[in-house]
Amino acid sequence: MDAQRWVSEVNEGWGLTVKVKKQLCDIRSQYQHIEIFETENLGHLLMLDGIVQLTSYDEFAYHEMMANLPFYACSHVPERALVIGGGDGGVLRELGRHPELRTIDICEIDAEVIRAAQKFLPETSCGYDDPRVKVNIGDGSCFIKEHPGCYDIIIVDSTDPGGPGEPLFGENFYRDMKKALTPGGVIATQAESYYLLPEIACRVVKFAGRFFKSSGFAQINVPTYPTGVIGCCLGSDEGEVFLPRRMPDAELQKQLRYYSPEVHRSAFELPVFARRLFSKNGDEK
Ligand code: SAM
Repeated sequence: MDAQRWVSEVNEGWGLTVKVKKQLCDIRSQYQHIEIFETENLGHLLMLDGIVQLTSYDEFAYHEMMANLPFYACSHVPERALVIGGGDGGVLRELGRHPELRTIDICEIDAEVIRAAQKFLPETSCGYDDPRVKVNIGDGSCFIKEHPGCYDIIIVDSTDPGGPGEPLFGENFYRDMKKALTPGGVIATQAESYYLLPEIACRVVKFAGRFFKSSGFAQINVPTYPTGVIGCCLGSDEGEVFLPRRMPDAELQKQLRYYSPEVHRSAFELPVFARRLFSKNGDEK
């Protein structure tokens, strides 16, 4: 194996390795190491601090679910959305498919991620082209405190804890998100993999369960995240988050490659060990 032409996300004792053609971007920002590669078979690859954030091959799965699970779980038709993190623009692109949204705010801590995505990841950064999108640069855990009662859906598309994403995995942040919602609003947070980071997945499930009447962990199949699965944790005070309230019209459903009302419901059906894990450690209802 030509070591020079492969990049790896290395976890404890094992890794995920991708063959690359060339490196397009290698920046050390104030917050993290930003790398973008053109790969042999998976299109573009974005890594932050050595962790895979997306590939062109399967980013649609994660971004469609992160945007549409809260959009369709919301008891009223959402008009105001907030994305925290998500600098690559993929969640914005998916939210942009909904004409019902009047405003789409994003709070990303690292302007360099946005700049790099706009230069090298046109397939996701096209999300910024929507005139409803307003960009705020800053820490999402501070931004949220300044916007009580403002949002129908809040989507947290963050990096893992340990870096700038750390405050987004704390109990206070969940309390502040609840205050930032309109009545009946929905939160959706990147909830890690129950195989790779079970303690963090449990922590997220626990906080969502503590602050919201209905909450749950939806699994998303994403082959280029280590273990192939990642979670999206939903929380709301109205209705059941696992039940879609509305459905995409035929035209929109044709554009979607992963999300459907059936997938929405089934994403909350977890393997037995994960269900046990969350009921023991996550206070899941
Ligand atoms: N889907 C990805 C994943 O989980 O692998 C996450 C992608 S997105 C690029 C993550 C973004 O969250 C990064 O651009 C990072 O700068 C941003 N971020 C991390 N901590 C943040 C914070 N406290 N406030 C706002 N944005 C933050």
